[in-house]
Amino acid sequence: MAPDTERPVSNVQAQQKFHPSPEFSRAANVNDPEIYARCNANPDKFWEECALQLEWMKPWIQLSEWNPPHAKWFLDGKLNVSSNCLDRHLAGRGDQRAIIWEGEPGDQKTLTYRELHAEVCRFANGLRRLGVQKGDRVTIYMPMTPEGAIAMLACSRIGALHMVVFGGFSAEALQERTNDCGAKVVVTADAYWRRGNLVGLKQIVDEAVPHCPTVEKVVVFQRVGATVKTSMVEGRDIWWHDLIADTSLECDPEEMDAEDPLFILYTSGSTGKPKGILHTTGGYLTGAYITTKLIFDIKPEDLYWCTADIGWVTGHSYVVYGPLANGAQVFMYEGSPDWSTEGKPGRDRFWDMIERHKISILYTAPTLIRACMKWGEEYPASHDLSSLRLLGSVGEPINPEAWLWYHKHIGHERCPIVDTWWQTETGSIMISPLPGIVSTTPASATKPFPGIKAEVVNEKGERQPAGQKGILVITQPWPWMLRTIWGDDARYVKTYWSRFPGMYFPGDGAMEDEDGNFWLLGRVDDIMLVAGHNISTMEMESVLIEHPAIAEAAVIGKPDDVKGQVPVAFVIAREGHGPKPGDHDAIHKLDAELKDYVAKRLGVICRPADVILTADLPKTRSGKIMRRLLRDIAEGHILGDTTTLADPDVLAGIKEKYASEED
Ligand code: ATP
Ligand code: MG
Repeated sequence: MAPDTERPVSNVQAQQKFHPSPEFSRAANVNDPEIYARCNANPDKFWEECALQLEWMKPWIQLSEWNPPHAKWFLDGKLNVSSNCLDRHLAGRGDQRAIIWEGEPGDQKTLTYRELHAEVCRFANGLRRLGVQKGDRVTIYMPMTPEGAIAMLACSRIGALHMVVFGGFSAEALQERTNDCGAKVVVTADAYWRRGNLVGLKQIVDEAVPHCPTVEKVVVFQRVGATVKTSMVEGRDIWWHDLIADTSLECDPEEMDAEDPLFILYTSGSTGKPKGILHTTGGYLTGAYITTKLIFDIKPEDLYWCTADIGWVTGHSYVVYGPLANGAQVFMYEGSPDWSTEGKPGRDRFWDMIERHKISILYTAPTLIRACMKWGEEYPASHDLSSLRLLGSVGEPINPEAWLWYHKHIGHERCPIVDTWWQTETGSIMISPLPGIVSTTPASATKPFPGIKAEVVNEKGERQPAGQKGILVITQPWPWMLRTIWGDDARYVKTYWSRFPGMYFPGDGAMEDEDGNFWLLGRVDDIMLVAGHNISTMEMESVLIEHPAIAEAAVIGKPDDVKGQVPVAFVIAREGHGPKPGDHDAIHKLDAELKDYVAKRLGVICRPADVILTADLPKTRSGKIMRRLLRDIAEGHILGDTTTLADPDVLAGIKEKYASEED
């Protein structure tokens, strides 16, 4: 991947272009650039080709039906998701590894496709025994162990909808989501390991479930065992191993309509009250399957690792359904990236596992990459990462500095990077390079997936010329789109389809360049209007983290009588590079330097009014920066909804810092 000439793209930054190597392209699942022209000219034909690669119990009679803003796909087609992920691989690759798992303390488990199939069938039979039927909802509140995936697949086998709640969420979040969808059963574990500590999931369930009137049974997987005391409620709670003790290794998959619901998943909550996103069977699986195949270029010999938790949509589509529908070998890890198998802090855990397991595809988030940058490159440098051949990023815009660090220190300038833009609502990836044919530029997610129609528009919904910043929209329905918000269709219509009638509004800012590449600029709500100019948080943050002392930055707009809004930057120093706490001279020097740095790079208009050096930023549990809470602090407002925050204590610290440092 050699960079060619520097080329300015808008004012995001002068950028380099990276081309896939001829060897990578030759062997890639897609190596014909024609795919874009062909599929964009006739998306329907492409969707049918993709769906036909799955196994259908009955073919569809009509491809789609569009009653704006409600879509149906593969009408009257019948299929089962779990049998597509398991049964159809048994003949050809039953003994191939399906899931390779490592626990935080270093314990390991491997399941072949045949073994995974048997475990899923047993658990599906267990759920049926508890009275779970097609259409019922099941809450899954599990650690990152194969049993989380088994529980999801078992639900899909019997036609129950799963609603996975991230295992780091509180009793309150669990309760709110479980009640919103009216789940009948909760599947959980006794506890799991995180940074050497035990997180008692069952205890949290015990706090929540008495307030969940629809929950009849709680199934408890024994992850930890005797080390943790688990009390069981008579008549309500049952151990996973007891439930499946004498169940059959076979379980007939339920024949599901393509439009039967598959799951509900609440969005990560960066912007407000979580929404219960509903996905259905045929369209969703088609998307998860085909995007995994073409974007991650997955092959039978790959060991593929998506670091997302199954509690996020990325875990649904790219830990479980996408790779298993492709018959791939999937790696899963239970714990923290900075904890060693010896039970001590260790910042090389990811690189150690990549070396030991020979992982070939890594899909992770910018927040992790920035944390690793902060720690320093010596950690990946101490491991052999030569098994890697493809890298991916998802969750937030990836800053060019982080992209280049990932490319150099993890990909060793050899691995293409797929920066994938999508959302819980879109079900699968929407904008991303196809790694064998698309040249990449740091921080551009490049092209809409073949057949997906994306545009950048202005406030009036008019298409913006190349190079102009605006609002991202999807102009045509696609098979893997959400169908509604569970229990609140009016919110579905209002949130996604009312801003620009007939177009899907994801809520993100973007720019399309002359080559048809898309640049994601952050959430529309986060974009600042300074003296009449739109300034994206992404651009300013990316410049700040290019400063050698800065590892991470969040920028917000604060109201200003003269300019409308002025930027305020919250920054975290790189380890060993920032001023010592209490060294006011050094802090002031850095403050002035950063303000000048931004002004010089992006223009005086972007000069931050305040720079707050902080130890932490408020983030969702999935690692996304919650700028709305920083805005609340800067504006002196009462803090908005903080239930999805990873660490509520962070805010108090920032508030105090803000009060003391604001000029
Ligand atoms: P909520 O909608 O409840 O506020 P959320 O938007 O954080 O939560 P997700 O669906 O997990 O929940 O995240 C999708 C959002 O993440 C996108 O709308 C976008 O803002 C951001 N995002 C994801 N991947 C990328 C990417 N590759 N580049 C830029 N932004 C991304
Ligand atoms: Mg969102």
